[in-house]
Amino acid sequence: MQHSLILNQSKNNWDEKDKAMILAFIEYIFTILYINKPVTIKLDDASEDNEEVEVKLNLRLTYVDLDTRVIIIYCKNRGLLDILRSIAHELIHIQQKDLGLLNNTVNISFYLPTPNSEGYEYEYEAYGLSGIIVRNFRAILNGKDNE
Ligand SMILES: [Zn+2]
Repeated sequence: MQHSLILNQSKNNWDEKDKAMILAFIEYIFTILYINKPVTIKLDDASEDNEEVEVKLNLRLTYVDLDTRVIIIYCKNRGLLDILRSIAHELIHIQQKDLGLLNNTVNISFYLPTPNSEGYEYEYEAYGLSGIIVRNFRAILNGKDNE
């Protein structure tokens, strides 16, 4: 399956170490999540040139469109591990869709939901699982089983 990763090198200025880490993480996460169609992950620096999603992105650091399967992550002034966690978080929502979990959810809001919001459990899962995935990835990088 051919996923797309748009690094936006000219804006984000990744160094070689960052780039290697991002690529290793993407490779890792697609081996552990159930994703059944290609996904595009775009690492952007800021919102100016993203007119069509700018409103939705206002005050947000990430965005996922479950229909087009495009994930946009704002990277400006953020640490790399935080960015990786965001990638994991949004990919978990894609996995939820591919597992058919979101089919009966009419109006899901993944942004600042309260426990009474529709789909709260999916947001809760995305936050928890993304933290675990990044932690495990770091442990593998460090050659340890636990940290
Ligand atoms: Zn979410």
